[in-house]
Amino acid sequence: MDRERMEVFLELFREEPPIYIQELEKRAKEEEVPIIRRGTRDVLRYLIRVKRPLRVLEVGTAIGYSALFMKELLPKDGNLTTIEKVQGRIMTAKENFSAYDQEGKITLLEGDASEVLKQLVTEKKSFDFIFMDAAKGQYLNFLQDVMKLLAIGGVLISDNIFHEGDVLESRYAVTRRDRTIHGRMREYLEALTTNPELETICLDVGDGMTISTKRGME
Ligand code: SAM
Repeated sequence: MDRERMEVFLELFREEPPIYIQELEKRAKEEEVPIIRRGTRDVLRYLIRVKRPLRVLEVGTAIGYSALFMKELLPKDGNLTTIEKVQGRIMTAKENFSAYDQEGKITLLEGDASEVLKQLVTEKKSFDFIFMDAAKGQYLNFLQDVMKLLAIGGVLISDNIFHEGDVLESRYAVTRRDRTIHGRMREYLEALTTNPELETICLDVGDGMTISTKRGME
């Protein structure tokens, strides 16, 4: 199957996001800022509309594109917290939030997610929708705190699990630099799919994504 043709075909059935979201997408591409792909965006839209989460957490803001996209879909009393550590991106995200989040639904937490997540656990915060989209090699390190933050029945989405296809390859076929991420991503997928507290599906959408739901323990 020709992936590019399929993308063109799917475009026929894709809901257009608000104009400013389309402009941000264009800008991110021009400035080479990594943002979610359109297939990933479709899955987020579907899940948010169906699940109607009130408390969303995103790990990896970049310039705020996916945060603003999700914010548009939240129920009236829903809110979104997003974490970013790179100063330049934080500045741009803040500008975008002040321009397009006049309702004040988005809270940007600055810092390394490994620390920020711990702080949220200490504050006994709870989220019913968590979108993991930061450094792929760190997902596994974040998981313990993410599990504490995820409410029962809550959904955890992890993006870029294929790591541009590398994750499929033998460990020896990927470059040394990518080998650590390769191993960690496989361990992360193992952790998600074998965790008795989670029901997980791996999807070949965008650069690969997982959807996990936290079960109540009987
Ligand atoms: N979710 C964004 C979107 O689609 O609009 C894209 C996020 S981009 C793929 C990943 C972002 O995560 C980068 O801006 C990067 O600086 C940030 N990041 C990576 N590791 C992080 C960490 N440990 N803590 C906080 N942010 C991190």
